[in-house]
Amino acid sequence: MDTIISTNFFGYFSNKTLNDEVFGAITDELQRQQNQIELIASENFASREVLSALGSVMTNKYAEGYPDRRYYGGCKFVDIAEKIAIERICKLFDCKFANVQPHSGAQANLSVFYALAQPGDTILGMGLAMGGHLTHGSPPTISGKWFRAVNYGVDENGILDYDQVQRLADEHRPKIILAGASSYSRRIDFARFRKIADSVGAYLFADVAHYAGLIVAGLYPSPIGHAHVVTSTTHKTLRGPRGGIILTNDEVIAKKVDSAVFPGVQGGPQMHTIAAKAVAFGEALRPEFKKYARDVLENSIAMAARLQEHGLNVISGGTDSHMSVVDVSGLSITGKIAEVELEEAGVTCNKNAIPFDKLPPSQTSGIRVGSAAMTTRGLGVNEFKKIADLIHKVLSKYGKSEYETVKREVRAETLDLCKKFPLYA
Ligand SMILES: *Cc1c(COP(=O)(O)O)cnc(C)c1O
Repeated sequence: MDTIISTNFFGYFSNKTLNDEVFGAITDELQRQQNQIELIASENFASREVLSALGSVMTNKYAEGYPDRRYYGGCKFVDIAEKIAIERICKLFDCKFANVQPHSGAQANLSVFYALAQPGDTILGMGLAMGGHLTHGSPPTISGKWFRAVNYGVDENGILDYDQVQRLADEHRPKIILAGASSYSRRIDFARFRKIADSVGAYLFADVAHYAGLIVAGLYPSPIGHAHVVTSTTHKTLRGPRGGIILTNDEVIAKKVDSAVFPGVQGGPQMHTIAAKAVAFGEALRPEFKKYARDVLENSIAMAARLQEHGLNVISGGTDSHMSVVDVSGLSITGKIAEVELEEAGVTCNKNAIPFDKLPPSQTSGIRVGSAAMTTRGLGVNEFKKIADLIHKVLSKYGKSEYETVKREVRAETLDLCKKFPLYA
């Protein structure tokens, strides 16, 4: 493995004999992050302050309940952290109520289902293969097992098919309609979703896990004011610690959500994570974050456009967000091969199904790429165009006689980029 910086950079306390392997793995992971072009659209690099809060003594504290109404003593200081997190996220989204305790996006979604629906109810969400998330009704998840899940998708141009959503809503009368996705690059029309929900008396539940950072910067439509309830992760474009949040302007729903998170779905909240959320939300309130989000969007659009110039089919015809799904089948390779080969060349991304994919999820015809993480490292439009060139170079030469040489050349270039834009340096 190429080494850029020394070990134990974060000043970990470790028992050399007992935990050498664990801390060795952490150090190797740090170096992997430093030396790879990270394009996984759901990832980002949290600040050192966020990491410090995460590694803090608040992990020791039990605080079942909510600020000022806990089931344990000694909660004075964790209450401060949780109140700040709530106040800041409400300010960011301009909403009235927030629950910052969900351990993850999936836990946030489960809590909303638990608050608003009963097993056997019908839910309507975007299909996984069309860009939706597992938790929006996919068969192997609770959302698919406990509910009668119906899926909508995109049209032949890769654009969300609102007419289909309306048709399916009329036909199935769902209790909940989910708006939100994990691999849909275009804007979502939350007002239109609300009209459809109202026409059948359904709750509109928006999951903005991917878009949250862009939304709080005013660069992507906000579901607040349209959706009855909104969930998000905190670690994707929002650039905080791994976790979830639930937002609403409806006091009755807010109460149901609080009871659903605790004691419904979770036990004690992770107070170190909540403190780290408070730190991250504070960062997102600063003007620098707006600039960051603008750069994320510009870089993403530039990368997608360059991939298109190389003749690659970008699903939905382009992007309005930090991510794009790219069809690689035109190069006669699968998404799986692309993922593996790009990683060897120093570019990390994930294989991704494309709408109407003919290949199984273990192979896929596409990859998903995002700009959130590398924009945090300071890369700009020129570097993202360069990355698009490198991606095309690797994938278009796969299987040719000069391939190994090309891959080595690209690896040298990706390492060079990483050195120019250091991470945690
Ligand atoms: C990432 C994601 C989630 C799940 O978040 P986890 O923290 O991994 O549980 C939920 N919904 C959407 C739309 C996502 O993209």
